[in-house]
Parts: sequence; C-alpha cells; structure tokens
Amino acid sequence: MIVPKSHPRYESLLLREKITDCLKEGVISEAGIAAHGRGEAFDYFLGEKTTDEANKAIKAAAEMLCKAKNPVISVNGNIACLVPKEIVELSEIVPLKIEINLFYRTREREVKIKKRLEKYRAKEILGVGDDANEIIPGLDSLRGKVSREGIFSSDVVIVPLEDGDRALALKKMEKRIIAIDLNPLSRTSLCADITIVDNVVRVMPKLIEEIKKFKEKKIEENLEFDNRKNLKESIKIMKKNLSNWEKKFNQR
Ligand code: ATP
Ligand code: MG
Repeated sequence: MIVPKSHPRYESLLLREKITDCLKEGVISEAGIAAHGRGEAFDYFLGEKTTDEANKAIKAAAEMLCKAKNPVISVNGNIACLVPKEIVELSEIVPLKIEINLFYRTREREVKIKKRLEKYRAKEILGVGDDANEIIPGLDSLRGKVSREGIFSSDVVIVPLEDGDRALALKKMEKRIIAIDLNPLSRTSLCADITIVDNVVRVMPKLIEEIKKFKEKKIEENLEFDNRKNLKESIKIMKKNLSNWEKKFNQR
C-alpha cells in the first residue's frame, strides 16, 4: 500500500502497515493488533503528540533507569515490531538487559522476535526457551515465565504496552515499574511508578536522548515525580481536546 504524505493520518497509517507486516511475519499476535488499535484511539484523544506531562515522565524514567542496579526492558511483539532499533540502543546506553516477555508465548514467536532484534545488532537476549526459567508469583506458568538473570532479579523494569495482571504481579514482587501506555486509565498505568502516557514510537527516541543528557550530567538529579498527578493531567489533556473538537463540531 502506498500512503500519500498528504493524508491526515499519514503517520498512523504507516504504523498500521508496519504492524500488519509484522503479523504476517509472525512477530505480532492477532491480539497485538487489537492492542495497537486501542492505543490508536487514545493517541487520537491525546492529539498524537508528546505532551509536557509525558516529557516530565520521560525525564524521571531516564533518571530511574540510570540509577538502577539491574534494569530490564520487557519486549513483546508490538514493540519489537515498532521500535527494534531503539530497544537495542537503549540496552547499550543505560546499559540494560533485553528480555522477551510475551502474553501469548510460543517458541516460534520468541525466536522470530529474537531474530528481529539481532538484525538490529542486539547481543544478549533473555527470556527465550529454557532461559525463561522462573515464574512470577501469582501468574499461570505461560504468562508468568521470566528469566532469572533478567526480570526475576531486576529492580527496575520498563514495560511498554504491558497487561495489567502482569504489571500488578511485578509490583507485588516490589519491582519499580516504568510503563509506556497511551491509556492513562489502564491497570498498568495506574500501578506503575512512572507512566509515560505517549506512543512508544515517540517515547523511545526521546528517552534515549534524556538518558544521554543524564549521563553527561546535563540534567537535574532527584527529580520529583508524582505518577497520579501526571496521569490526571494526561486525562485532562484528552478531555480538553475532546471539548475543543466538540465546540468546532457544534459550529459546523
Ligand atoms: P490493562 O491490562 O493494563 O488494564 P488493557 O487491557 O486495556 O490494559 P492491554 O491490551 O492489556 O490493555 O495492553 C495494551 C496497552 O497498550 C493498552 O492500554 C493500549 O492503549 C496501549 N498501547 C497500544 N499501542 C501503543 C503504543 N504504540 N504506544 C503506547 N501504548 C500503546
Ligand atoms: Mg489487559
């Protein structure tokens, strides 16, 4: 499909194309497509741009990652599809571990995601096959599988597009959680320590930039961050956008 650049949903249609290609390749599950659609709807309400609130959350996340002892990024099909290059760059600059952690786990998809990340020069990838040798307490054996060196023993986990049950179970293990989720009302967003309410494709390059600044000591340390307040502000932005659109609609 060729999307004309002038199309008002150009960026969004390009992402859809990526997502459907990844479904054909077996990197994304069918449920992953539905999750992407839910994200699109919230992105529309958000105005499809990074808000000041998201920028604050990104800065706080950069600091938390740089100060962590064993930080891990939890990778599912959607993010391996959308931001493979950035996952690898993040793993190098923090540095942090990459762990494949799938809601619909199959050996075939684990391997496909691993190969996709290796194409972008990922070196070590945890959570594949027998490496997913531990279980997160409270989850069934397929959904709870994690790697001992990775998520199981981590102190900070970054979970882009995570399911609420798993995020809550990780919280019970006393992990600190950084979520990237366009829905400020999801259970994942509500239970995370830092929720970045923004599209993962916009967040990852900005997060990498902030980490570089933090490493070069160009940013303030011990940033104060209140997740509940930040989520409330993100909801307000969506409400404001909707009421502006309603006004315009009424004037037609
Ligand atoms: P929860 O289980 O946390 O209550 P949920 O059941 O509504 O949430 P899931 O399908 O479990 O949603 O998780 C996917 C989440 O990822 C959704 O909240 C969706 O809005 C979000 N999402 C989808 N695509 C993106 C994206 N590109 N960037 C950021 N978030 C996204
Ligand atoms: Mg869910």
